[in-house]
Amino acid sequence: MSKMHLDIVTPERKVYSKEVEMVITRAANGDIGILPHHAPLVSPLSVTVLRVKDEGKEERIAISGGFLEVRPSGVTILAETAELSSDIDVARAEAAASRAKGRISEHDGDLARAELALRRAVNRLDVAKWK
Ligand code: ATP
Repeated sequence: MSKMHLDIVTPERKVYSKEVEMVITRAANGDIGILPHHAPLVSPLSVTVLRVKDEGKEERIAISGGFLEVRPSGVTILAETAELSSDIDVARAEAAASRAKGRISEHDGDLARAELALRRAVNRLDVAKWK
């Protein structure tokens, strides 16, 4: 199968840079599967999972917002944060989820912010199950 280059970059670091066969994620207009030679595209990403398929294996990466760019040279994800499933600290995500739930149930502070923190934590916990 032909391959394309995938880069995942955050303001802190380069998380991923490899040749891969397919990328699947949820873009602005719904779920999208990207194969080599896909039409050029830019889309915002919310809190979501990036699935990367290569040579019969699949990796999952937790993304917490950013942009997806598809160009002839490959796919670039500019993410606010991105963690490979094996890099996710489950205890930390569980603690973040429980703090956010507490703030939501007690109407403590900015509700939208607490809901977003909960979405990030739940997304990380989902991705961490993929090992
Ligand atoms: P926390 O309250 O635990 O910091 P958060 O959702 O507020 O969670 P972010 O602001 O999204 O954290 O991320 C800050 C940095 O910490 C980023 O580099 C992110 O990749 C990393 N990070 C956050 N949560 C985890 C986790 N559970 N496991 C590994 N890295 C994490």
